[in-house]
Amino acid sequence: MKPADRPRLQQAAAGAVVTVACALALAVGAVTAAHAAATIVIVNQNDPGIGFNDPTPAAPVGGNPGTTLGQQRLYAFQAAANIWGATLTSAVPIRIGASFVPLSCNASSAVLGSAGANEIWSDFTNAPRAGTWYPSSLASKLAGTDVASPGEPHIIARFNSRLGLFDDCLPGSGFYLGVDRNFGNQIDLVTVLLHEFAHGLGFQTFTSGATGEEPQNIPSIWDYYLVNNRTNRTWVESTAAERAQSAVTWRGLSWNGPRVTALVPQLLEPQSNLAISGAAAGSAAGNYEVGEASFGPPLGTPAVRGQLMPVVDQANGTGLACDPLNALNALAVRGNVALVDRGTCNFVVKALNVQAAGAIGMVVADNQPGEVAGMTGADPTLSIPSVRVTQADGAAIKASLQRRSRNQSGVIATLGVNASRLAGADAQGRILMYTPSIYSPGSTVSHYTTEAKPNQLMEPSINSDLTHAVTAPRDLTFPLLQDIGW
Ligand SMILES: [Zn+2]
Repeated sequence: MKPADRPRLQQAAAGAVVTVACALALAVGAVTAAHAAATIVIVNQNDPGIGFNDPTPAAPVGGNPGTTLGQQRLYAFQAAANIWGATLTSAVPIRIGASFVPLSCNASSAVLGSAGANEIWSDFTNAPRAGTWYPSSLASKLAGTDVASPGEPHIIARFNSRLGLFDDCLPGSGFYLGVDRNFGNQIDLVTVLLHEFAHGLGFQTFTSGATGEEPQNIPSIWDYYLVNNRTNRTWVESTAAERAQSAVTWRGLSWNGPRVTALVPQLLEPQSNLAISGAAAGSAAGNYEVGEASFGPPLGTPAVRGQLMPVVDQANGTGLACDPLNALNALAVRGNVALVDRGTCNFVVKALNVQAAGAIGMVVADNQPGEVAGMTGADPTLSIPSVRVTQADGAAIKASLQRRSRNQSGVIATLGVNASRLAGADAQGRILMYTPSIYSPGSTVSHYTTEAKPNQLMEPSINSDLTHAVTAPRDLTFPLLQDIGW
């Protein structure tokens, strides 16, 4: 492509590398993979002896026939490239500059990898929208010719070379290099690669989520579909200050692209819910948003339903359930749903104590202000469902329990789902984006919400239930890329 063909060609300033430092929490030469739909070329950027060139002997694992660590890494890359190559359509081969290098980690958490567009372009030939940044690989697809600077890959991807191999870098939790998802307690590299490649293909904004500033005052194609669900204005229609504010607003941003939005109702499951009803419920009656527990059975159908009874084991009238329940509290919760307060001991201890006393479910009321949050922990002997409600909701519910007897309250708690709301979607049925209240560089805004059910590939953390799917009916990664032009 000649410069004359491009009336206004611009490139990202200062270094040109725009990387989403996607901090997944916990979390050779050129090899070509040819496909019917798109060709992805892995460009090995490691020096001899390290990364893809690491000669450490390795036994073939999970369908990966490599016999050195370097060969196995490369094979896993090809497997992920094959999946994206079979999904995308482009006449221009997509080059991924890839390397394994030391990345941030300690004994309990690590950055698994990061990736992003190497260059961004606006106003190239056939650009669907004028004055809009597109990632290099997408701009090349849309232009029908390679727009990248000579010798430059479209995507830069780096992965943690020390993961699981050293005591100071998640010891024992290394990358699983097999391609069959039989990863056990390890981290499935192919899944991480699919995630990071998606960032490089355009699953990211180039606008700063921290300040709302656009590079050279030019919006990203992403920003036409990122919508503030309080104002219903997209980021393109918002001021920089509004963009920055929305990036740290709980459940504040949604994706309004047509492909994703059309799939949301059939893809996301109903939202977990606490319903309060009964003769004594009074003004507390209604549906409550809940934080889910990582222990016990998931909420679903049939719902768990019973009298809601508070545990009262503290002098101030609250109940922590951190010790085995006394006779009065055991009588109160037996066959009923126990209401306990957050604090002092972990959630699993509370659940075990109320379960041992015969409760059929547990509602935890928060002990400080804030939005709904989940509960972590694990215990395979827990068979009752648990949910967490906000401090404010807990207070409203408790107010309805004043005139209870020793084992009845007249207030019915139903732990189930709200069929009219989808897990991870806003009230209009659009999927939420990741907007934690504390800004997370590289993660905020450029991921889906962590509340989606089933878990999505493009959440900020890799979940163990992910498949290698990147499109419907399981996953919304490719549909989003379609929304921006793929
Ligand atoms: Zn990411």
